[in-house]
Amino acid sequence: MECDVCGKKIPNDAVVCDNCGTTVESMIEQQEFEKQLKAHKKSNTPAMTVMQYLYMQIVMLIPIAGIVIAILWAFKDNVNQNRQNLARSTLISYAVVIVVFTVLSILLSGFIGEFVVNYFSLFK
Ligand SMILES: [Zn+2]
Repeated sequence: MECDVCGKKIPNDAVVCDNCGTTVESMIEQQEFEKQLKAHKKSNTPAMTVMQYLYMQIVMLIPIAGIVIAILWAFKDNVNQNRQNLARSTLISYAVVIVVFTVLSILLSGFIGEFVVNYFSLFK
């Protein structure tokens, strides 16, 4: 593992960093504290207003740029949890639409192609 304070490599079974003297226990406590703080922040996310949702949905409809912005919202740290969730669900629905559309167009092009070939073979 690495010392959280000075960044020096220390053995996994070390109790104290031999470079700066920080105890491993205090590093773990600090990590626990930060984890709890993060969870606390998440659970206290303020609700987004209707106008904020509307703004997001309009922005995400912009071709290409909207998807780039949605990806930023979905995966950047420190984004409002509501914003992140809406961006993620929008990206998932885009992915579903793209997959369904692709599959349908492949199937349809096969059927139409076959139909055209059969239709013209009637006149031979
Ligand atoms: Zn250290």
